[in-house]
Amino acid sequence: MSFASLGLYATLVKKLSAIGYTEPYPIQQQAIPAILEGKDVLGIAQTGSGKTASFVLPILQQLQHKTVTKNRFIRALILVPTRELAVQVGEVVSTFAEVMPRKIKSLAIYGGVSINVQMMALQNVEILIATPGRLLDLINLNALNISEIDILTLDEADKMLNMGFKKEMADIFELLPTKRQNLLFSATLGKEINTITEILLHNPVKIQV
Ligand code: AMP
Repeated sequence: MSFASLGLYATLVKKLSAIGYTEPYPIQQQAIPAILEGKDVLGIAQTGSGKTASFVLPILQQLQHKTVTKNRFIRALILVPTRELAVQVGEVVSTFAEVMPRKIKSLAIYGGVSINVQMMALQNVEILIATPGRLLDLINLNALNISEIDILTLDEADKMLNMGFKKEMADIFELLPTKRQNLLFSATLGKEINTITEILLHNPVKIQV
């Protein structure tokens, strides 16, 4: 099994090999083709499984075909529970975005830092990695709009719930367009994750690694 056989662009495959990803991990083998086909995905995977690349790579490729519309209208939203994860996922997105044929701007936003700097940095951003509270703050300031996103990703959804972001998540879901692709990653399954899965995902491909 190779990254090329999963349907990824040659530029991405080259970059993967350059940074030492020689073979796709199981979550990547299953998630990448499904996401490239436009399917919703429910991934039960721990940190260390390679889950980040399993959604970042196909998201970048999916966005290549989309034309850039209005400024401050986000195309792909990646919701994460913590600042640390936002930074980490943001770095993976930047690493691979730089080799894409069409340039794609990404940004990680999180609480605890100046909101003004983030407001300015949001110019022409297509992929936004965000913690729930700061995302809502910026939406309320009209700094960005998520009503036309193509792809929604929830990373570490169980942790997001455990940290008490249920209300924020519900408020965010209200602002999304009905037509969109949904990816949900969680280390565990449970009642609350099942409820969110039922609300958000349509016939998801279930992947457990
Ligand atoms: P993650 O579970 O996404 O946090 O990834 C765990 C670690 O595995 C990170 O340090 C990645 O850079 C690395 N990684 C992810 N996929 C691969 C791969 N296919 N080959 C080698 N390393 C990988």
